[in-house]
Amino acid sequence: MEVIDKKELCAIVGEHNVRDDEADLYAYGSDSSVHEAMPAVIVRPDTTEQVQELLRHANDRKIPVIPRGSGSGMCGQVVPIRGGIVLDMRALNHIVEINVKDAYCRVEPGVIDDDLNRALKPHGFFYPPTPASSRVATIGGEIANNASGMRSVKYGAVRDSLLGLKVVLADGRCLALGATTRVAASGYPIERFIVGSEGTLAVVVEASLRFVPIPAFRCLGIVKFNKIEEAGEAISEIMASGCQPSMLELMDKIAISAVNKAEGVGLPDVEAILLFEADGMVREAVDYEIAKTEAGCAKHGGFGIEKSYEEKEQARIFAGRAKLFPALSKYREGLASTSLADDMAVPFSRMAATAHLIHEVADRHGIVMTAYGHCGAGCMHTKILMDTTKKDQWAAAREAVAEIYEAVHAMGGTTSAEHGIGISKAPAFKKEKEAALDLMRAVKRAFDPNNILNPGKLMDAPDDWVTATRLRYAVTE
Ligand SMILES: Cc1cc2nc3c(=O)[nH]c(=O)nc-3n(C[C@H](O)[C@H](O)[C@H](O)COP(=O)(O)OP(=O)(O)OC[C@H]3O[C@@H](n4cnc5c(N)ncnc54)[C@H](O)[C@@H]3O)c2cc1C
Repeated sequence: MEVIDKKELCAIVGEHNVRDDEADLYAYGSDSSVHEAMPAVIVRPDTTEQVQELLRHANDRKIPVIPRGSGSGMCGQVVPIRGGIVLDMRALNHIVEINVKDAYCRVEPGVIDDDLNRALKPHGFFYPPTPASSRVATIGGEIANNASGMRSVKYGAVRDSLLGLKVVLADGRCLALGATTRVAASGYPIERFIVGSEGTLAVVVEASLRFVPIPAFRCLGIVKFNKIEEAGEAISEIMASGCQPSMLELMDKIAISAVNKAEGVGLPDVEAILLFEADGMVREAVDYEIAKTEAGCAKHGGFGIEKSYEEKEQARIFAGRAKLFPALSKYREGLASTSLADDMAVPFSRMAATAHLIHEVADRHGIVMTAYGHCGAGCMHTKILMDTTKKDQWAAAREAVAEIYEAVHAMGGTTSAEHGIGISKAPAFKKEKEAALDLMRAVKRAFDPNNILNPGKLMDAPDDWVTATRLRYAVTE
């Protein structure tokens, strides 16, 4: 591999857009995962032409290039496992077009999700895949992760909102893919290969996205369960009934206790709660969805339902879920919340079994694990709360992650619902997709023959995530 010549990079993007001081390299060496590895240099292009020239330069010299948005990924997707150039795409952040007549917009990849929704709001529209990290997540990062969120149960993931893409290939060519129409019948849907590709196939420089009208009515509620099995049965009942909630979220007793302890929100002391929402343009239609959801919950032991059409009251009901992520880090003195086995998808009927599995595996390995997530979309999240200073806790986490994924695969589930694969979920992903790995590698070679784009990820990531990179924690005992 050729040594990276900073002067040549400066000639492409300008001196002010190239950084290699220690503090920047450190900051760009990690994301929201447990991993870290230092890049050689950070480059921040301002234009598509600069991205093209930069990639041509790197491809000729076989230098790794890791496209990066805000670095909020939870699995090490942007951690530069083989060094090289981190390509910070946040300066390409223009909303190019909001086409109301044809109900789509064109945006650059560095646009932040919340900013796009702020721009769409005056037109009466919203972009629905919105992850919980929407304050920082870029559209480029969302596309490459195939992100989704609370409302994906009704509106789908990024893949369902994507119409077309403009991408730069590893050799510097710029291609327009897909269309701006709602249907496009023939040929291989190459733009869809980029969705969920985690920066390994091409660099997104523009996206055409569909948007939908902001509903006139939203009703949000909460229901309690004394047993998590009952909550699981209610989820199946609701989703199999033809009901269309715009949100259906599960929180287990550990999640409840974490937000109560850390944030004092006063959630009920029960084994599980479901948060539900329905939305629409006609109040009666929303009432109908809510009534069906309530009936599904009541049939399986749900009680203490509270609901509201009022925004202020909705914020109160939702406060526990909104504060969950920071609360997990404060669950117990000495335990840190790590994004490990952090999301998976399972069939609705296996939701409760998965929560039990998570708790049982955690107890057996002397760690704490929670079960929560966008259960209406089949998405189950966990976090491992552990003493990150201890080697034996990491060993326990390694075993727990492997056991959980083995069981999830056996019940027909999949390794990632929305957070992606990166480094920490790669061993499970490789097992699940074993039959397709060679085909994935062939696709990768067709896009990127010199393997410069985010190398060593997905199907080519190491088999042991604990030793794959340095850990972001000081392991002292
Ligand atoms: C508190 C918290 C809550 C979260 N909640 C959710 C959630 O509800 N749903 C969800 O799906 N995720 C969630 N995430 C994970 C993450 O925030 C999202 O997946 C988000 O979309 C990542 O965006 P980013 O800009 O930070 O991307 P990054 O982390 O910077 O990158 C993600 C991937 O995209 C690639 N990439 C970035 N830009 C480009 C580009 N222009 N071209 C090609 N590849 C590119 C990178 O190489 C990498 O593989 C959460 C994270 C946190 C910290």
